[in-house]
Amino acid sequence: MREEGIDPQNRSDTSDITRREALVTLGVLGGAVAAGATGWGLLEGMVALRQPVESWHKSVCRFCGTGCGVLVGMKDGSVVDVRGDELAHNKGVICVKGSMLPQLTRIPGRLTSPKIRKNGTLVDASWDEAMALVASQFSDAIRYYGPDSVAFYGSGQLFTEESYTANKLFKAGIRTNNVDGNPRLCMASAASGYVQTYGKDEPPGSYEDADYADCFFIFGANPYECHPPIFERIRQRKRLHPDTVIICVDPRRTMTTLHSDIHLAVVPGTDLLLLNAMASVICEEGLENQEFIQKHVRFSDGNKDCDITRFREFLKAYAPEKVERELGVSAQDIRRVAFLFARSKATMSLWTMGVNQRTQGTFLNNMLNGLHLITGQFGRPGATPFSLTGQPNACGGVRDTGALAHALPNGRLVANPGHRAEMEKLWKVPEGTISPRLGLDALALFRAMEQGSVKVALIMCTNPGTTLPSASRYQAAMEKCFTIVVDTVEDSETQRHAQVVLPAALWVEKEGVTGQGERRYQLTERLLTPPAQARSDLQILVDLADRLGHGDLITARSPEAVWDEWRNVSANSLYNFQGITYARLKKERGLQWPCPNPEHPGTTRRYVESDDPFVQKGAGIEFYGNHDKKAVVYLRPYIPSPERTSTDYPMYLTTGRILEQFHTGTLTGRIQELQDAAGPAKIQINPQDAFVLRIQDGDPVEVKSKYGSVRGEAVLTEMSRPGVVFASFYDARLLINFAVADNYDPASKEPEFKVTAVSVRKVAT
Ligand code: SF4
Repeated sequence: MREEGIDPQNRSDTSDITRREALVTLGVLGGAVAAGATGWGLLEGMVALRQPVESWHKSVCRFCGTGCGVLVGMKDGSVVDVRGDELAHNKGVICVKGSMLPQLTRIPGRLTSPKIRKNGTLVDASWDEAMALVASQFSDAIRYYGPDSVAFYGSGQLFTEESYTANKLFKAGIRTNNVDGNPRLCMASAASGYVQTYGKDEPPGSYEDADYADCFFIFGANPYECHPPIFERIRQRKRLHPDTVIICVDPRRTMTTLHSDIHLAVVPGTDLLLLNAMASVICEEGLENQEFIQKHVRFSDGNKDCDITRFREFLKAYAPEKVERELGVSAQDIRRVAFLFARSKATMSLWTMGVNQRTQGTFLNNMLNGLHLITGQFGRPGATPFSLTGQPNACGGVRDTGALAHALPNGRLVANPGHRAEMEKLWKVPEGTISPRLGLDALALFRAMEQGSVKVALIMCTNPGTTLPSASRYQAAMEKCFTIVVDTVEDSETQRHAQVVLPAALWVEKEGVTGQGERRYQLTERLLTPPAQARSDLQILVDLADRLGHGDLITARSPEAVWDEWRNVSANSLYNFQGITYARLKKERGLQWPCPNPEHPGTTRRYVESDDPFVQKGAGIEFYGNHDKKAVVYLRPYIPSPERTSTDYPMYLTTGRILEQFHTGTLTGRIQELQDAAGPAKIQINPQDAFVLRIQDGDPVEVKSKYGSVRGEAVLTEMSRPGVVFASFYDARLLINFAVADNYDPASKEPEFKVTAVSVRKVAT
């Protein structure tokens, strides 16, 4: 059988797959796989695994925020193959993780039964026994301590329908705003930056801007490894237009910096100096776009509006010569990059966790957007400020649905009485139902568990036992709370502290929509039956709603019914995607909102008249999210990170992802080929530091901070600049977050994973 609508070039038998096709699929020709890191043996092995296919099905990769479209090959009821969807936005390119999706459906250690902790051990239980216990714990806590004694901690990896339902159940049913999730750890600063600047969240541009830009300003991101198809698009642009300039700002040398024209290796934690210094050069040298500023920009010091003269005055303290020493980048390089940014025909900035996971994350986001606004690098193809996202559904599922402690759907805020009233009407609950009290953001939530004020928490599709900073503190906090963990595989760090563990369906074992980083909603259809007793997260939430007496509120019970309800909620907002139906998503390769009606093609560039249905005719560009329809450029002073090196802690630790593993490795760590390719996580040290510390390659070392310590194997590499050590967080055997600082951005509440002062020493084995 062959599915209708699938590209006929995709053959039903991959035995004839060419070597080039295999490499594109695996990301090699896309520059996505470092051959040295992955190895030809692995690539040949992967190709050899391919089997004949009976039918191909359009789907979406389960892993990262690139949200690649894939075609899933089925035979005899199993997933036997996958390939990049050439009609999707990723143009057929997928990375090595995506190429392993068939193995994902067969990973060892799936959770197959609910479990309850008895005498310290998790033992199998029936669904009824487990859910009755969960419901009684919730009911008792709410009865005796009030609704704010319970919480939901979700994930940018749940389907949108699941996050929407959880948000509605907790905020309009249980009546607590204690709803937060792991996007707080990765995207919160990007969201607060966009909202403060444009009045609305989410990137204005699209991946396709990479096809038009002639200057790429990659800042605190490593797309070569973390968003390979997007970096491949950038490289393709440079292949076709060799004058294209790729600038990368990163304290480390990474695979992205190695493929860039200019690498600015800033000292960790100082890069707001760079952005302010670039703005200073732009203003000093007359590189601003006066017309754009006059029409579309307002300046603010964060408290009150001001004029461009005040902005220029503010920037005088950031002249390149004044900041170069602390920043670690020469004044000459700052000037060069400022000129390139401002004078290129189209500049596209791309950033991610190096910017967001910072105590000044929101300020950095403000200034990145600000540079585009003062230079008019906005709204034309290729000219856009673009925050890349890490998870497949942090944008669509969590930010858009408002499944965060301070938020309500479609950009509404808990703190705004009018927004609460609107949502009460839309959710058909009595006036005053939604609590005016802000909920607890991620760190505050786990601190409340520590203090005993949150008694019961439902944790879905995420592994905070590994992902939170200062991990020992928050693992201990979970011990003080009745935690229910819904997961797909056994034995995560989080489950070790749980009282109930519930087995969840994974990827194509359930149906739902994900919204990736360019406002594109895509449907994953169900192709498999979940193993044993595993259920979709939506089924679990519906069951909980019934048991807590909120069945009348949670009336939408299938993914499509929830989606339709959510579509109609969106119709009352500037996030309107009422035209994105399941029927369209089954046929089309995703659609970008705003998309207000079934005929609308979706919006590639937001705030631009030719694309965006909300821009008034004749306006050209209109920032309709703000009352005066202008975007805001902020005066954002540099404040050094609370983590400063000292005699006791003379180095900086920074953390990140690698190509072959996704996040904490709970899924990709169980795929043998990816595990072999990545190997165990190690502590990367510059050879100069290693020489001083008398550390050799392979030595066991301890990384210690004020917050904790971790031991692992040293690897000496020039990729880390002197004074900086790096470790990835995919390997629980080297749980680097034990040592990571517990600081956060005051506006976004996102932790500063990227800057921790540490000491490093060799230890005995
Ligand atoms: Fe695409 Fe990310 Fe999946 Fe790789 S992991 S195929 S980049 S969505």
